[in-house]
Amino acid sequence: MGVVEEIKARVNIVDLIGRYVVLKPAGKNYKARCPFHPDDTPSLMVSPEKGLWHCFGCGAGGDAISFLMRIERLSFQEAVAKLAQELGVELKGKGEGKSRLYQVNLEALRFFQRELRGPHGEKAREYLLSRGIGEVLWEKWGLGYAPPSWDGLLRALSRFGVQILLDLGFIVMGERGPYDRFRDRVIFPIRDDQGRVVAFAGRSFEGEPKYLNTPNTPVFTKGTVLYGLDLAKDAIRRKGRAVIVEGYTDVISLHSAGIEEAVASMGTSLTEDQARLLSRYTEEVVIAYDRDAAGEASSLRGMFILHGAGLRVRVASFPPEEDPDSFVRKSGRAAAEEVLAHAQPFPEFFLHALASRHDLSQMDGKEALLREARSFWPEIKSSVLKLAIVQGLSQLLGLPPEEVQEALRGVTRPVPKTAEKEPKACLTPEDLVVKFLLEGKVPEKLVPELLAEERRFSEAYREVVRRWAEQWAEGSHPNGAFLVSGLSPQAASRVSRLLLLDLKVVNETQALEEALTRFLYLPRLTERMEEVKLAMQDAEKRGDNEAVRRFTLEFQKLCRKRFELLRRR
Ligand SMILES: [Zn+2]
Repeated sequence: MGVVEEIKARVNIVDLIGRYVVLKPAGKNYKARCPFHPDDTPSLMVSPEKGLWHCFGCGAGGDAISFLMRIERLSFQEAVAKLAQELGVELKGKGEGKSRLYQVNLEALRFFQRELRGPHGEKAREYLLSRGIGEVLWEKWGLGYAPPSWDGLLRALSRFGVQILLDLGFIVMGERGPYDRFRDRVIFPIRDDQGRVVAFAGRSFEGEPKYLNTPNTPVFTKGTVLYGLDLAKDAIRRKGRAVIVEGYTDVISLHSAGIEEAVASMGTSLTEDQARLLSRYTEEVVIAYDRDAAGEASSLRGMFILHGAGLRVRVASFPPEEDPDSFVRKSGRAAAEEVLAHAQPFPEFFLHALASRHDLSQMDGKEALLREARSFWPEIKSSVLKLAIVQGLSQLLGLPPEEVQEALRGVTRPVPKTAEKEPKACLTPEDLVVKFLLEGKVPEKLVPELLAEERRFSEAYREVVRRWAEQWAEGSHPNGAFLVSGLSPQAASRVSRLLLLDLKVVNETQALEEALTRFLYLPRLTERMEEVKLAMQDAEKRGDNEAVRRFTLEFQKLCRKRFELLRRR
C-alpha cells in the first residue's frame, strides 16, 4: 500500500474533523456547522464508513486529506506529511528517501526510452513520426514507450522493490498481484520546473482513457506542475510572456517551431498552484487552447485564477478545428506568432464566450447569460476586472450598469440557509446514474454501454466517470475516499455529495432503471428520431420512395419504443 492509501485506511475522519468543529451524530453519519461558510444550520456531513465529508450548504467536500488541506491551508504534500506523522506512517518522501524516488523515476524513464527504440516500439515510433516528432525530439523531451506486457517495468525495476514502485504509481495492485499501470502507451515524462522527472503521462493508440497519468505521489501532486516549464522558463523570462496550451504535443510542436515559451496545463482547468508557479517567471500569459475548450466553464475559471494571481491574461484563437500543434505544423511559426499577437484581452474573451452561448435577442437569453456570469462572480478578485465586466455586460445586454451589478452581486451573499435541508429532492437523473455507478450498483453488463456515452455527462462528472472507469478497467471497484484522490476540488465535492446522500429508495433496481431511462435511453432515442426525421425529409426531396418507406418504418418503431419507455416509468 502506498503512503497515501495507508493514511486513508488508518485515519479516523471523525476524530480529525472533530478537532475543528463540534460533530453531532446523525444516523450512520455525523453533522456539524461548516467551517468554510457562515452556517447557522449544521450543513456539514461526515461519513466515517466512506471516509468522506461534504457540506450541503457551500458544496465543499472530499476526504480527510482535502479537509486538512483546506482548513489548515496546506498543500497536498504538507497535509499528507502531517497526517503521516500523526499516524506513524513512514513517509518515504523525506530527505534522502526523496532523491531515491527521483532516481527511480529516472530509471523508469530510461526503461521507457529503451523500449521506444526497441523491437516493440515500432507503433510508437510511427505515431511520433506521423505527428512530426522526430528522433532529436525524443531525446529532448525524454519520450518513451510502455510495452504491452503486464510486468515489463515491474521486472526491469524489480531491484528497487515493489513498495517504491507502488508509491510512485508505476504499478497497480490487482487481485492476482502487482502489474504495470502503463501498458502499450507512448510515454511523455513530466518534469518539474527544476527538470526533475516527477511523473509520466501515457497516451494510448486506441481506446480509453486516451491519457493515463501518474496519480499523486510523494514527489508529484496533480495541478502543481506545468509541462515543459523546465525547458520554457528562460524563453518565458526573455519574451516576458508564457503561452499556455492544453497538451504535450502542442508544447513539443511549438517549441520545435521556435515558440519556446509554451507550457501545457495538462487539462483545461488551471490551478492556483500553477498560477503561482508561472507568476514567478512572468506577468503575462497567453492562453492557446482548442477553440471549444477555451470557452468552457472550467477553463474560464482557470483564467480567473491566473488573473487572481496578478497575471495579465489574453486568449488566442486558432482557426476552428485546429489546435496549436496542428496549426503550427501546417502554417509555420510566423502564422502562429501572428495568432498569438492578436490574442484577445481576457475580459473581452469572457464576454464573447458568454454571449456565444445565449440568444441575446430574447429576454430569457439575457437572463440566462446573467445567471451564468453570476456563477463566476465570487472568483473575480480584482475590482478593475469586475468593473470591466459590468461595463461590458451593460453594453452587451443594453441594461444600465447598476442593474447588471445588482444582478451579479446576488450570489456573493452567504448561501441561503434553506440550501441545507434534505437535499435529495434536487437529484437529477444524471446525479442518480453517477451515484449508482460509483456505488457499484450498475449491473456489469450495462457499464460499458454507459461509459461509451461519456459525452452525455456534464463536465465535472466526466472527470469522475473517467477516473472511475480507469480504476474499473484495472479490476477494482473504487469507492469513497479512494476514488476522490487526485480529482479536482469541484469533482471531489460532487462525489462526496452523491456518496453522502441517503436516498431511502424502496426499489433500487427500479430507481436505476428510471434514471437510466431519463438520462440515457430517452435522449438517445429522441436523437435517433430527429436523425431519422431529417433523413426521411431528405429522401422525400430526392423522391426516393423506397428510402422514405424504410425511414417511416424505423420512425414508427422508434415511436413505439419511446411509448413503451414512457409507460414503464
Ligand atoms: Zn460549507
